[in-house]
Amino acid sequence: MDYQAFFKSRLADLKHDGNYRVFIDLQRKRGNFPEAKWTSGESTKDVAIWCSNDYLGMGQHPKVLAALHEAVDRCGAGAGGTRNISGTTHDHVLLEAELADLHGKEAALVFTSGYVSNWAALGTLASQIPDCIVFSDSLNHASMIEGIRHSRAEKVIWKHNNLEDLEAKLRAADPAKPKLIAFESVYSMDGDIAPISQICDLADRFGAMTYLDEVHAVGLYGPRGGGIAEQEGVMDRLTVIEGTLGKAFGVVGGYIAASVELCDFVRSFASGFIFTTALPPAIAAAATASIRHLKESSVEREAHKAIVAKVRRRLDTLGIPHVDNPSHIIPVIVGNPAKCKFLSDTLLEDFGIYIQPINYPTVPKGTERLRITPSPVHTSGDVDRLVCALHSLWSQCQLARQPVAAE
Ligand code: PMP
Repeated sequence: MDYQAFFKSRLADLKHDGNYRVFIDLQRKRGNFPEAKWTSGESTKDVAIWCSNDYLGMGQHPKVLAALHEAVDRCGAGAGGTRNISGTTHDHVLLEAELADLHGKEAALVFTSGYVSNWAALGTLASQIPDCIVFSDSLNHASMIEGIRHSRAEKVIWKHNNLEDLEAKLRAADPAKPKLIAFESVYSMDGDIAPISQICDLADRFGAMTYLDEVHAVGLYGPRGGGIAEQEGVMDRLTVIEGTLGKAFGVVGGYIAASVELCDFVRSFASGFIFTTALPPAIAAAATASIRHLKESSVEREAHKAIVAKVRRRLDTLGIPHVDNPSHIIPVIVGNPAKCKFLSDTLLEDFGIYIQPINYPTVPKGTERLRITPSPVHTSGDVDRLVCALHSLWSQCQLARQPVAAE
């Protein structure tokens, strides 16, 4: 086989279908988030990032950076081993205690990313519990899908956020078999939120465990940043809460929070935990500082809510269509892959605004979008520039507007 020709032709297919991903070369500027320097060939340009998952700008927070620097000076760069071979440092122990407390659980277990947490924890639970059936929301993230697939457990997919469908599928399953319901709180592409409490009711009725991915909610919702489950007062009803340290907490890493026995079980059986080098202790220390700060301070959450509401209002007054949801994610629907890419390219090149286009297969065809994620550190000037640019490009691309709301 001509391997290089094969790679080339598959990449050409992606390009032809408009699904080829382009990574732009950015340097974030400490103290100036959301500003970054964009390098393209020989040229560089300042741009404003409007699609970051560092939702609160905590990746630049002085307390987080101070903790990171202090731990590097204290411990050096890496963990030096997997968790069971010298890689469990005091900073990991503190971080896990902080996370358990955040979610009101007995224990927590840290992984190298949110992806790995889902893959390893779901894969382990589903494969190690004999005859376990996993009930997976149809819009679950790839990391959950891959973990469930890897487990080879029986999988039942229920219609997204649809309680009737979940109930019917639970009822149809063998009552004697163990069950695990896997779902998310805030769904990342539409920003809609799961009916957590009612899903827990069904889990109770059918004797199922619950596994909730709060990756797009931790740090952002609840009085201490414990996520939607904390906001709704249902943390104690969930068997496992999974989250990331890489979005609102601004660092990197993932985790589960659950009972001592469940965490110990995953720790003991999950290859994705056992056989990989631990997060650097400095990252663990920075994450702990971020979580602690957001437990005590609602300032960032309040400012975040305010700017999200402001961007939505401004889009409404211009008739720019966006998904109406109760979260911080603003999906501006373009509905055409070429126009979506054109908008993203032109925003970047002509207006210095970076929003990655989201096309199929990440979202269904015909719902291509710009996923806007405002942060408390975007200024009023940033908002003005964003909405003015979208307004002018919307006309240039002859895109449909929704009825205009009064300001
Ligand atoms: N779960 C969901 C719902 C996600 O959207 C993502 C990543 N965007 C992950 C898990 C993985 O988290 P991480 O980026 O920390 O690997």
